[in-house]
Amino acid sequence: MEAHLADFIKGTTAGNEAEAILRACVHCGFCTATCPTYQILGDELDGPRGRIYLIKQMLEGDGPTEKTQLHLDRCLNCRSCETTCPSGVQYSRLLDIGREVMETKVPRKLWDRLLRGALRSTLPRARLFGAAMGWGRLVRPLLPKLLQAKVPPRTGAGLRPQVLHARKMIELAGCVQPSMYPNINAAAARVLDRLGISLLESPGVGCCGAVRFHLNDVEAARVDARRAIDGWWAQLEAGAEAIVMTASGCGVHVRDYGHLLREDPAYAEKAARVAAAVRDLSEVIAGEKDALAALLEGTRKERKGRSAVFHSPCTLQHGQQIRGVVEGLLQAAGFEARPAANGHLCCGAAGTYAILEPELSLQLRALKVEALAAGSPGVIVSANAGCIAHLQAGTPLPVRHWIELIDQSLASPER
Ligand code: SF4
Ligand code: SF4
Repeated sequence: MEAHLADFIKGTTAGNEAEAILRACVHCGFCTATCPTYQILGDELDGPRGRIYLIKQMLEGDGPTEKTQLHLDRCLNCRSCETTCPSGVQYSRLLDIGREVMETKVPRKLWDRLLRGALRSTLPRARLFGAAMGWGRLVRPLLPKLLQAKVPPRTGAGLRPQVLHARKMIELAGCVQPSMYPNINAAAARVLDRLGISLLESPGVGCCGAVRFHLNDVEAARVDARRAIDGWWAQLEAGAEAIVMTASGCGVHVRDYGHLLREDPAYAEKAARVAAAVRDLSEVIAGEKDALAALLEGTRKERKGRSAVFHSPCTLQHGQQIRGVVEGLLQAAGFEARPAANGHLCCGAAGTYAILEPELSLQLRALKVEALAAGSPGVIVSANAGCIAHLQAGTPLPVRHWIELIDQSLASPER
């Protein structure tokens, strides 16, 4: 697709990148069939090809309108279209460029501005968010149903092993996960410890910046990224093997640090090294599969017949192109890991999408829960705290992080 970019962006880094992406798109429309918002709304402009057109028009100087904003806001950035596209179009990058431009050209309504501002300033601050979550739990019965669903009951983290091993990896604590699901990183630390790897905490790192990035506050996201790099740097220099992500939404974002900070002379090189050190937890554990199999010896029989269904977050299967790994680990632990229909579709959580676009988000969740529950599994598992919270609010089935199941399997067959 040929594009004639307007002067305001022509020749810039973003403009050149957008031009190359637009050129790769041959307008075939294959991507439309696997786009969740197109499937629900049936409007070409709510599918990838239509959105690519809207962005192209905007970059060519055809002023964006509220209509452009509506259709770009409705995009989940799930990247299902990228997985489908036979031409390798980097839709998500184009969307980022388009949204950044749109933000400067189309004013938002007051309520939208306030809501986005509140999300930008609370979610990335782990302590503030933790305090809000604490208050939310106290008054949970009084909250409206929609908000109640966002406040999971308090759960414990269990014991965290001491740092004893020569092999070390670094964790990202994250922003909302520590107060919503403190057991996830603790379970990861316990499992890795059994495999001979110590998982190092990195106090002060906090949010990776994904929240603010996806709320179109790119400069604030760069600040978050620099803080994370500074927080991890000494541990990386001291020989830590990897930065382990227990939330796939963070993983896909940190893998992009090199791109995000490519024009920052002080951080470009460090950002590329940090990005290269990122591993999803499933990749790390799968890399130790012989040691895991030895530890799991004896648990397979007791656990045979327990069924789990895996919801693969878009940020894992489309964003990081990691597929089948978690399912293999669950099977190794004796779980019958059933596939669900339409596994490529988003559950509707998508970062802050569930708050900003509640109607579409709830429709997507209803479809996803129906597909996941179809085989009457004992438990739904996922790999991202946002998906877990969103799905749990829509089903009586327990929804857990997959590492918690592996942790339980290693702890005792009875648990
Ligand atoms: S599948 Fe790829 S090339 Fe075809 S319209 Fe979609 S983005 Fe463009
Ligand atoms: S990112 Fe997801 S919602 Fe957005 S256009 Fe692509 S498939 Fe559709």
